[in-house]
Formats: sequence, structure tokens, C-alpha cells
Amino acid sequence: MASVPIASHHSYMLQATYNNLLVFTSILIATLASYTTLNLAGRISTLEKKLHRTFWLIGGACAMGLGIWSMHFVGMLAFSLPIPLGYDIAITFYSLVIAVGVSYFALDLVTRNILSFVKLAISGTLMGLGIAAMHYSGMLAMRMSPAIEYDIPIVLLSVGVAIAASTAALWIAFTLRLNHLRFLWLRRVGAAIVMGFAIAGMHYTGMAAANFPIGAICRAASGLSLNWLAITIIVVTINVLTVTLVLSILDSRLEHRTNVFTQSLKRANETLQYQATHDALTGLPNRYLLSERIQHAIDIADRSKMRFALYFIDLDRFKAINDSLGHNIGDQLLKGVANRLSATLRKEDTVARLGGDEFVVLIEEVADVATAAHTAEKLFNCFQSEFDLDDTGISILSSIGISLYPENGVTSDALLSHADAAMYEVKVSGRNNYRFFEAAMNIANLRTVEIQQGLRAAIKNDQFFLHYQPKWNCSNGTISGAEALLRWRHPKLGLVSPVEFIPIAEQSGQIIAIDHWVVEQVCRQLGEWSAAGLATIRIAVNLSQVNFRSNSLVEDITRTTDKFGVARNMLMFEITESVAMQNTEETMKTIEKLQKAGFDLAIDDFGTGFSSLSYLQQFAVRQLKVDRMFVNRLSTTDPKASSVVSAIVNLAHSLNMQVVAEGVETEAQLALLKGMECDEMQGYLLSKPLESHDFIKLVNRADALIA
Ligand code: C2E
Ligand code: CA
Ligand code: CA
Repeated sequence: MASVPIASHHSYMLQATYNNLLVFTSILIATLASYTTLNLAGRISTLEKKLHRTFWLIGGACAMGLGIWSMHFVGMLAFSLPIPLGYDIAITFYSLVIAVGVSYFALDLVTRNILSFVKLAISGTLMGLGIAAMHYSGMLAMRMSPAIEYDIPIVLLSVGVAIAASTAALWIAFTLRLNHLRFLWLRRVGAAIVMGFAIAGMHYTGMAAANFPIGAICRAASGLSLNWLAITIIVVTINVLTVTLVLSILDSRLEHRTNVFTQSLKRANETLQYQATHDALTGLPNRYLLSERIQHAIDIADRSKMRFALYFIDLDRFKAINDSLGHNIGDQLLKGVANRLSATLRKEDTVARLGGDEFVVLIEEVADVATAAHTAEKLFNCFQSEFDLDDTGISILSSIGISLYPENGVTSDALLSHADAAMYEVKVSGRNNYRFFEAAMNIANLRTVEIQQGLRAAIKNDQFFLHYQPKWNCSNGTISGAEALLRWRHPKLGLVSPVEFIPIAEQSGQIIAIDHWVVEQVCRQLGEWSAAGLATIRIAVNLSQVNFRSNSLVEDITRTTDKFGVARNMLMFEITESVAMQNTEETMKTIEKLQKAGFDLAIDDFGTGFSSLSYLQQFAVRQLKVDRMFVNRLSTTDPKASSVVSAIVNLAHSLNMQVVAEGVETEAQLALLKGMECDEMQGYLLSKPLESHDFIKLVNRADALIA
């Protein structure tokens, strides 16, 4: 223990000495307190919850106050006079309270987001005065008698040091409160050492200002060992500071981890939210989000007294493309359509995909019908050029139905279903067009419902019957076969066309029973005719694609032919080109089974489904029926159509298939087809579909020949 004499120039003063070890310890405590404070400031700055922040502010202020105070107190204990010394507990405690208060004030200040220069200066001054107050009240606790004589200039100097040190400390704490600085840890240690020395500097300057007159006694002196007191305070302080520091670090790690967790939870939520409201393939809003947007548009339109328009867009013959070229191409096409539609519109418009090939566009702030029509034109034009997919160009057309708010409905559902009804009208009247909704179109919807309900009782109530349309052999002019065509007489609606009810029956699945009824009816008819000793011919039956998904199709058919004793070569089945192109295992298996059972196959509506003939070859198909659309265009003035059909005929022949032309209506077409060596013909020119008794009469007439 070395004695450092101070104030020796006052010979009438008591000689003060310092314990170097305690002096060093006091500086160490100041440094540790500073480091803890810097760390806490960083911790508190990031806290968002008010309660959390308050908790750490109070806890931090206690630790920091204790640190400053104990630095001061240990500094006092390092000091000794040649008389016994002691400290008044109450006053000492008050000085601790001052230290904690000052610390709270400082921590609160530096952990806010802004610290102006003026505020820093004022706060630094207040804090410096606070620390000085703590120091000098701590000195009071010695209760010297006579009182300590202070050297005023040095007292002022000590207050100045306190203010300067506090201002510097506040500023350092403020700049180092951000946790993302590089080498943060090192910077804080450096800053803590500077702050530690500054605080200690203030204390020892303050001590230098104190003079103890000879003969003074310390009225607070007691028998207590000051050394033990020092050790206790040091240990407690260091513990408190360390625990605070560790807690602060742990708490920040915990928060970090909670943050990471919250973040990933948030991200997962966002993904889910996105998936629930968007279409996976195109990324467009789905039905759910669309109806929300429509609802929103309704609110806006009501306020601004404006209209908005809904466009229901359905791609024409998309299913055929999808079935024949594969889902991959179909998907690409849908994406292409989505992109084109989005590109045509403004950002604030909505393009949604309802599923399948149905898109809906929502345009807000539409002034009048002309504006709505102008947009329809733009949407429609999206389909006027080919889509480039996988180095093949594909063209697809669209049918668009439009409904306007508020004229065509005031709810999201009504507007959508009316746009849908308008689209349906476009489909029925030849596709590739757009139309506005009209009240009469609702009747179409009602009719659909009525048809679907009516179909349930149709078989039971004998409302179905068959027409037979002959097929003629081109080379010898005889009837070579016939196609069975289904007819339905609805009790209220009258005769309903299969073009209308078959798609509905396909959707409801009723088509399976219906097609089976046709097979049975044809077999019964063939049986009756041969029992009556009449000449009969082979009948072709249309099979809907839906049947190819049922496993028992072939078994059901053979059971029926066997039941009526009909030879299998008397029946032939027509499947549309798009069904044959459905490259699914089930379809392939069923087709194979049909052929193994001894039935011939014809590919119906050939030319609409983008298939290649060589692909069809693997089915050993007997006939190709060239679609009506091609036959219809045949004329001497349209050489392109003629060359397409004659190419089909040639290719089919090279693959051992017969070609049937359907929908032959004019002599000119007949002549052209004959010239192309088409094998068979079917159409109104030769015979309309006939009732069974008219048909069998025709077959059994000797002169049923064409020229
Ligand atoms: P499809 O298989 O292409 O049948 C030919 C259609 O063309 C028939 O119409 C027939 O009446 C019509 N047609 C015949 N000659 C001419 C002509 O010279 N000009 C014109 N413009 N049309 C002609 P239909 O009977 O209305 O049948 C329409 C479609 O309904 C059929 O097309 C077929 O896909 C489906 N279908 C008819 N009967 C059945 C059936 O029993 N089962 C299934 N699954 N579908 C059937
Ligand atoms: Ca057919
Ligand atoms: Ca056909």
C-alpha cells in the first residue's frame, strides 16, 4: 500500500493517502459500468414494446447507477486520513439514488432515435451536475467536523470534468447504440475505457478539491472495517454489472432468435396467403381474389358514380389442343394468354384465371358502353396472332362475354354469371366474338338447368330415340353403313339437339348411361330387322370421351351385343379425334380392348384436333371422318380447302384407312370428293338422318343408289 501525499501545500491540513489497489479497482469498475451501459443502450434501442423497454431502462439504470456510485465509493474507500473514517448510511444511500436517477435519465436519452446537438449539450450538463451532486453528497456522508474546506476552482474544474465526461459518454453511447456496426464489441471496449477514466477523473479531481482541517473528526466513523466494506461493495457491484451484461446479451440473442422465427412464420404466411389467392400456373389472381376485387370495385363505383366492366373470356377449342398436343403445350398456351392479357391492360386492372381456359378481366372506371366495347376489342385482338410455344406457333381464338356494373347486376356473383351467360351466347352463335350481356340470356342459363334435370328422367320415360343417317359408298353408289344419331323429345322444350344436351350430359356424367342406351337400342333394332328378314348394314355409334374413363366400357358393350345376338362387326364406334389424342393409359387401353373385341373404330371430326396421321396409325383405325367444316369449305373457288382434304385422303389411304366425308351438302362438293377418291360420303345432299322405319325402307330398296 503506497501513500500518495496530496494537498501537502496546506501544512495545516490533514495528510490524505490513497490505496492504489482500490484506486485501480475503482477505475476498473467505472470501465465495466461503462461497457455494460453501452451494451444496454444498444439493447434498449432495438426494443419496440414499451413494457420491455421500461423494464430494461429501470434494470439498466440500477446497474449503471450502482456502477458509478460504487466507483465513487470505492474511490472514497481508497482514500484515508490519519483519523478514523466512516460513512453515514442514509446519506450514502441518497447518493446511490442520485446515481441511479442520473443513469436512468442518460440511458433513456441515448436510446432514442434522435439526439440533437443542443439536447446533447443540455443533457451532458445535467448529467455532469448529477454525478457531481452524487459525489459531493457522498462526501457529506463522512460528516466531517469541522466541515471539509473545498478549493472552489478545483471544485468547478471537477464539475467541468464531470460535464465534459458525461457529454462525451452520452455521445459515444448514442453512436454505438446501433447493433450493426462493424467491430462493435471492440469499439465498445475502447469507449468504455475512455468513459471509465473520465468518470474516475471527475472523482479524483473532486477529491483534490477537498481539504480536511487538522483536528477535524469524522462523525460517521464507526468500528466497521472499511476494507471489508470495500470488498463487499466491489464484489456486489461487479456481480450486478456482469449479470446485467450477460442478461442483456442473452435477451438480445433470444430476441434475435424470436425475430428469425417470426420472420420465417411471416414469410410462410405470406406464401400461404399468395397461394390461396392466386392461380398456381399463371400467377394470376384466382376466383377468390377476383370476387374480392369485384366487391372492392362495387364500393368504389358506388362512391364515384362510375361503371365498371367484367369480361368473361373462354378460349375456343382449347380442350382439343390440350388433348392432342399435351398438357405441357396447353399450360404454356394458358401462360401465354395470361401474359398477353396482362400486357394489354393497365396495372390497376385485374386479370384473373378461374381455372381451365376461363379468364376474367375486371376494368374499373368505365365511362360508357363504347369504352367497354373498345376494351373488348383490345382483349379480343390479343388472340389475333399466333402464340409461339416451343418453336411451334399455335393460334387460338376466344369468346368473350361482358357485363357492366350496375346495369347487369349489383353483386359479384350476378355480374360473373351474366358475363358467363353472354360468353355462352357467343359460343353458341359460332364462337370467336364478344358480346354484352342482355337480359334474355338469362333464359339460356335456366334452360341449361332444365335440360340437366330433364335428362335424369329421359331414359326411364322413353324420351330418347334414334335417327340413322346413311353413309354412301362412292365407288358403287350403294349404302355402306349408317350413323346412329341420338334424338331427345323433352316434354316441355320439344326436340332438343344433341349439340345442346350432350355437353351437359357429359358434365353431369349422365352421358355414360345415355351412350349405353344407344348401343342397346341399336342392337335391339338390328335384332328386330334381321328377325324380320330385312337386309341390314353396319351401324356406327358415337361414344363420348367420358366413356373412356370408365373401365367397364368394353365389357358392357360386349354383354349387350351378346344379349341381342348381334355380330360384333355390325357395330362400329366413332370417337372424336381429341379423344384418340388423349394420350392417357386408360384411353389407350380402352381403344385397344374395343379393337380386340372385334369392333371397328372411326376417328370423328378429323382435322379439328391437331393430330398427326402417323400417330393415329397405331390404333389400326378403320375410318377417318373428315370434319364438316372442311367439307363445307370445299368449292372450286377455294383451292386451299381442296388441297387439305385431298392430302388427308392420300395420307389415309397410304395408311390403309378409309376416308368418310361428312356434311356433304352440294353437288359440287360431291363431285370434288369423288375426284379425290374419297371412300364414303354422308350428308344432307344424300340423305338426312332418318327415323328407323324410313331408314330400313331405304336400305331395302333395290334402287338406293347415288349417281
Ligand atoms: P357428329 O358425330 O359429327 O354427327 C354428325 C352431325 O352432323 C349430326 O348432327 C348430323 O345430323 C349432322 N349432319 C349430317 N349431315 C349433315 C349435313 O349435310 N350438313 C350439316 N350441317 N350437318 C349434317 P346431330 O345429330 O345434331 O349430332 C350432333 C353431334 O352430337 C354429333 O356430331 C355427335 O358428336 C353428337 N351425338 C349425336 N348422337 C350421339 C350419341 O348417340 N352419343 C354421343 N356420345 N354423341 C352423339
Ligand atoms: Ca359422329
Ligand atoms: Ca363428325
